Amino acid sequence: MNTVFQQILDGKIPCDRVYEDDHCLAFRDINPVAPCHILVIPKVAIDRLSSAKENQADILGHLMLVASRVAKLDGYDDFRVITNNGAGAGQTVFHLHLHVIAGRTFGWPSP
Ligand code: 5GP
Repeated sequence: MNTVFQQILDGKIPCDRVYEDDHCLAFRDINPVAPCHILVIPKVAIDRLSSAKENQADILGHLMLVASRVAKLDGYDDFRVITNNGAGAGQTVFHLHLHVIAGRTFGWPSP
């Protein structure tokens, strides 16, 4: 069973796309927790950060650079990047994704 993000990548479910290149797709979260809430996902199927292999370091770095780029495209210099790794950490979609959130005040540590 494909994840919802794989279905988005496959064009079976629409998304509000912000950025796309050969390696990743960025689109707005359907249930935003901040004025800016963008998800950045790799096109290659990696279910979570801890499943990434040593030879996938380039794509991991690319996702971070794209996270910064999409925040900037939305007009934000200050933003937060989060990945939930595993159900116990709040992961609900098992296709690696970075949450890029901005536009409100953030506490630390996050509740
Ligand atoms: P997680 O809880 O796995 O870290 O984050 C999954 C995120 O995906 C959630 O913030 C949720 O709102 C978002 N999401 C789930 N289904 C869809 C969808 O069909 N479209 C979009 N754009 N976001 C989704």
